[in-house]
Amino acid sequence: MKESTRLIHTGRAKGGKSKAVSPSLTKASTLLIDDAKDLYRSDLRTYGRHGSELHDALKLAFITLENGQSCTLTPSGLTACTFAIMACVSSGGHVLITDSVYGPVRHFATGWLRDFGVEAEFYDPRIGGGITSLIKDNTQAIILEAPGSLTLEIQDIPAIVAVAKESGVTTIIDNTWSGGVYLKPLDLGVDISVHAATKYPAGHSDVFLGAIISRTTNIGDKVEANARAIGNATSPEDVYATLRGLRTMPSRIKQQSENALQIAKWLAAQPYVQTVLHPALMSHPDHDLWARDFSGASSVFSVILTERKLDNVIAFLNALKLFGIGYSYGGFESLAIHCDPQIRRTAMPWPKPGPLVRFAVGLEDTEDLIADISQAAAKL
Ligand SMILES: *Cc1c(COP(=O)(O)O)cnc(C)c1O
Repeated sequence: MKESTRLIHTGRAKGGKSKAVSPSLTKASTLLIDDAKDLYRSDLRTYGRHGSELHDALKLAFITLENGQSCTLTPSGLTACTFAIMACVSSGGHVLITDSVYGPVRHFATGWLRDFGVEAEFYDPRIGGGITSLIKDNTQAIILEAPGSLTLEIQDIPAIVAVAKESGVTTIIDNTWSGGVYLKPLDLGVDISVHAATKYPAGHSDVFLGAIISRTTNIGDKVEANARAIGNATSPEDVYATLRGLRTMPSRIKQQSENALQIAKWLAAQPYVQTVLHPALMSHPDHDLWARDFSGASSVFSVILTERKLDNVIAFLNALKLFGIGYSYGGFESLAIHCDPQIRRTAMPWPKPGPLVRFAVGLEDTEDLIADISQAAAKL
């Protein structure tokens, strides 16, 4: 079956009295156990922190989406990233992290990881197989993110995976940008794929949730055990909302992507735009890598403006009426931010001067969105 069909039919209610289409939302900390001799059985669900049938349904949906073997849900996308990393490292170890990584993960790596004796080293996102020269005896994990969610570099995932496999290093990718629809990293040999389900899966800008999907049950068990040790628990309301969102994600992301590409092409022809960073455009430096490994592009992209004062960029953003000013993406509504203060690089300088604006395109009509950018551009 094709993806949209699988996502509609996976993790559904199993009949029962209610005849409901979706599994019901159960709120429980304590679970009552019929027979005292079952209290300590590890094969039974004995406590609410470990989830419910509803959680199982969403995990199955993520496993289906990513062609994985197991899934751990976490309270946010950021905890999906940090719990996955924590499961793979130990004191005295070394991790390689793409320089284009989501900012808060960089913060975790340079703070928390270092405090606990794990060395975090950042690498050029375009390093490809050259990463072999950075592998040390104590390297435990390589963190990828493709594309970088502000700067849109695509990584050579198979080349990095090949080096990691040769060296026995675990690979973790943040797959939030593609929604899991346009990139199947586990099929490319990556060990762990993490999602901010907050974004496209939940899809309505009202939920925090993360998912960690593992290529093998061995890795998945390690991730789950680590998350349990830390006290991981996710709210049934958020799990319910995310399962509902996932049903329509393939249709939403497809429409949003079409809208985004149309707007990106239009922006490329505007005099105040220096470069459009959208991997589906031939002008993108990693377009060929993207075309090889991705089956589409989502609705998040950036533009670098021709030389403009920050005041003008701020006035432009403030003048937008349909695009909200806000972090995040994957909701039904369009958003825009200016990014320069967020672009931190330590492996390589960011080579593209000029103010960078990131657009996250929603489900509004493209003509209206273009008209909105047009009128606000007067402020540039
Ligand atoms: C938003 C985001 C996260 C974090 O997700 P939250 O649910 O906001 O914690 C992680 N990685 C990427 C690429 C994101 O865009």
